[in-house]
This record gives sequence, C-alpha cells and structure tokens, in this order.
Amino acid sequence: MTSELNTPDAVDHERDAAWQNDIRQWQDDVRQGVRHVRDLAALPLSPAERAAAQAAAARHKVRIPKTYLDLIDWNDPADPIRAQVIPSPRELVEAEGELDDPIADDEFSPVPRLTHRHADRVLLFPTYQCAVYCRFCFRKETLTSIGRGYSQGALEPAFAYIAAHPEIREVILTGGDPLSLPDKALAEIRTRIEAIAHVRLLRIHTRVPVALPSRITAGLVRSLQGRLMVSVVTHFNHPREITDATEQACRTLRQGGFVLLNQSVLLKGVNDTVEALEELCRELMYRLGVKPYYLHHGDLARGMAHRRTTIAEGQALVAALRQRLSGICNPVYVLDLPDGGGKVPIGPCHVEGRDGESWRIRGQDGAVRVYAEVVGE
Ligand SMILES: *Cc1c(COP(=O)(O)O)cnc(C)c1O
Ligand code: SF4
Repeated sequence: MTSELNTPDAVDHERDAAWQNDIRQWQDDVRQGVRHVRDLAALPLSPAERAAAQAAAARHKVRIPKTYLDLIDWNDPADPIRAQVIPSPRELVEAEGELDDPIADDEFSPVPRLTHRHADRVLLFPTYQCAVYCRFCFRKETLTSIGRGYSQGALEPAFAYIAAHPEIREVILTGGDPLSLPDKALAEIRTRIEAIAHVRLLRIHTRVPVALPSRITAGLVRSLQGRLMVSVVTHFNHPREITDATEQACRTLRQGGFVLLNQSVLLKGVNDTVEALEELCRELMYRLGVKPYYLHHGDLARGMAHRRTTIAEGQALVAALRQRLSGICNPVYVLDLPDGGGKVPIGPCHVEGRDGESWRIRGQDGAVRVYAEVVGE
C-alpha cells in the first residue's frame, strides 16, 4: 500500500513542516501580546489608566495573547473584553467576606495538585500558569502564591492517589490552564491517566480556545487522543469572543472527537444582559458546536465586588434565556458554595408547593398549574 506520497518519511516530513508552522503561529501570538507588567506601557491607555493598571498587575499576574488583545475596542472604556483582562485599580479594593480560596479547593486536597470532593471525579492541577490571566479568576490567589508550572514528578503523588481510588471515573485537568502546556507534556499526562483502568473520561477545563485559539493545533489534538473519552470544557464569557479563529479552534477539537462544553462566569459589565447571554449561548451551540454547560454566579474572589451581580439579577437573566433559547442552548446557573458544598443550581424554581400528590408548578408562561401525580403500584 505504499505510494510515493504516502511513505512514512514523506508523511512525517509534511507533518513536521505543518507542525513547525502551527507552533510558530501561537508562539508569535504569545510573544506579541502582554507578558509582563512593562508590556502594559505599549497599550493605548492614558497615563493615569496605565499607572493604575500597572499597580493592579503587581498584585495579580497579567498575560494577554495578541489575538485576544486585538478584540478590545479601545474607544470604549467599558469594553467587555478589556474588562476581563486589563488590570483595574478596583481589584485592589477588597470587600468583607471575600476569600483566598472561594470554593475550598485546598480543604479537599489529599495530595499536592489534586482536589477530591466528589467521589467519582477529581481535579488535577498539572500547572498553575495560564495563557491569559483573567482579572476575575477564582483561583488567582493560588496562581499567585503557587504559580509553578508542570513537571511529571510533581504529579506522581496525584497519579498514585487516582490509581488507589477505584471510585474515580473522571479526571479533570484544570489549573492554571492545562492547554498552555506543550503537546509532549499533555501526551505524558494523558498516557499516565489512561493506564489507570478505572478512569473513563478525561476532562480539560481551559480558556485557550478563547484566548489563544492558534494553540489548538493538530499536534495538540493528537496528544489527547487515546483510550479515554475526552471532554474539553471551554470558557467563553462574551459573544465578541466568538470569532473565525475561535470557530476554527473549536472545529479542530470537535473533529478530534472531543465533547465540547462551555462554562461562563456571570460578570457585571461584561455579560450581565439578556442580549449578551442570549447571543453567547446561541452562537456557542449553533456556530461553535459547544454546549453551554454552566453559568457560574461570581465567586467570592478578592477584589471582585465590582464584577459581581446579585443572585436575583442572575435568576432574572436565566429566566429570560429560558424563554428565548432552546433547552440545548441553555446553561445551568450554579453557585459554588464557599465551604466546599459543591456546585448547586440556583436558577428560578418552578415548583411553588405541593399538597400530597398535587404539585403546584409555574409554567414557562408564568401561570401556576396543578400537576397530580399518577404512579402505579
Ligand atoms: C467543579 C468541580 C468538579 C466538577 O463538577 P461537575 O459538576 O461535574 O462539572 C469536580 N470537583 C471539584 C472539586 C469541583 O470544584
Ligand atoms: S484561564 Fe482560568 S485559571 Fe487561568 S486566570 Fe483565567 S479563569 Fe483563572
């Protein structure tokens, strides 16, 4: 079955050239973006804005790939892309009740780089670095205090823990951003996890398809393919993040055979309108083939009071989404309880009450109806 064009050498050679090109492209995106506090000086900010951004960036790391930076409309001081990545002095204002570890990752960490709160799934932290640093990140204190990258040795206790716990079926790579790692590291991690027979699914929580879409290469896809079902959970927050480049990245992931889901964070001044959320959820599903999974109520991350909505505002938004979008386009509105209580749905409740087998339930039109249960012996 060999032909001139199909010898292993020719294939490898062609693939190498394509790989080199892929790598060059995303590395340029990183290099031409904001990587250090001093790079903020090159942005079209007023001297006062620049000084404020630099002060805030000294507290929480800054990193913005070029493609994401290019989405900012600099004429709009309230631009929703800018709000997510450009440091603001308001971050330095910490409110009573805000926390270093808003969802108690630490409390449920039996070994370094692993959190085990629900029997069947664990969080694994292969790196504490990201391709982009989001100002609202709920793990930002950990990213600042630990900040370490990947080494295979650092994960050995976590791999041993997973192997020793047959109830674990899902391993969730999070961080940090797992897709900021080189292909080789991803392949190493995937190989170690798939060797543990009771693990069924590998989940990857990442903002790379949004902020550094050029990183989603054929090589990256190949490094994740193996025995396990793979789900990539993206993090789009605003419809303007849906572009030709992010569409291409999601297509590459879908064609790799991965199940795509999205989680968003509800952020005041970014996506807290029905119009923004409706377009986001609709285009995620219809254009990118990414199922909206969770809409997170803002966590109690430090310095983020100015981006948090009330729960009542969130409920009104998701009620409106439910009216406007199909079931498949609707995310579940959740709150991650601070004491480690896990994620719980906090959307509007349609059950008004019950009287024995008679339930009073509010329909989508707002009218309450009685539903009488009929159940056989
Ligand atoms: C969010 C989270 C998970 C994943 O929860 P799902 O509801 O399955 O998406 C698992 N473990 C921890 C500790 C988490 O915070
Ligand atoms: S990519 Fe994720 S982990 Fe990294 S800063 Fe953004 S929200 Fe936090």
